[in-house]
Amino acid sequence: MIYYLSNFFIGACVASHANLVFNRLQIDNYQLILSRSYCFACKKQLRFWDTLPIISYLYLRGKCHYCQTKISAEHLLIELIGGFSFVLLDFSKINSYFLAILLFFLLIISLFDYFEQEFPIYLLFCPLLALIGKRLLFPLKLDSLSLLNFLPMIIAFGLMIKKEKLGEGDLLIYLLLVGFFSAQSANLIMLLACILCLVVFPITKKKSHQALPFVPYIYAATILFNNYQLFQIIN
Ligand SMILES: [Zn+2]
Repeated sequence: MIYYLSNFFIGACVASHANLVFNRLQIDNYQLILSRSYCFACKKQLRFWDTLPIISYLYLRGKCHYCQTKISAEHLLIELIGGFSFVLLDFSKINSYFLAILLFFLLIISLFDYFEQEFPIYLLFCPLLALIGKRLLFPLKLDSLSLLNFLPMIIAFGLMIKKEKLGEGDLLIYLLLVGFFSAQSANLIMLLACILCLVVFPITKKKSHQALPFVPYIYAATILFNNYQLFQIIN
């Protein structure tokens, strides 16, 4: 139980940092990513215990300690999702570190995709390095089955991109997932993402002309896929 809770807390911390990176890339310049946390409203530096994920939000009752500006509940939600995404990671295995890097960057990309309908392509650089690291240690087996799984998806992506229903970024993330897991697993994640999208998008839909932010669904599906798969191994 303590193992799951500490993993949850690590995940929440990582998600909190991902959210911070996203906010700072949006508002500030790049040098400020490593500077200390401050309130975006009053610019006061936050105390250490004001930056603890989930806990700080709850004891500050969702307000800044100094200026009482309301902190969006989205912060809490992102930290909870991040915590959930890490619950079943096994940090005694190197594979989990590669996965943690992928999840961290997928979360930042999801935030960009959700709020701005696009994301800076350089955010794929670190997950790509993690993928290369993983595949140097655990080479991917390429068989004909994975090619059969892979090609129809590439054609489907091509058509969707041509119709401007999806962006090239979605395709790059799909390819990243193929590398990380396998073509079959990546397809399953995409299927899950589509189902989640069909359920959630009609409820949260903004203006109809806006492009569909699909990465958050891919991120959620990756978490579900991953937790389910690890759950199977544990049992
Ligand atoms: Zn403040």
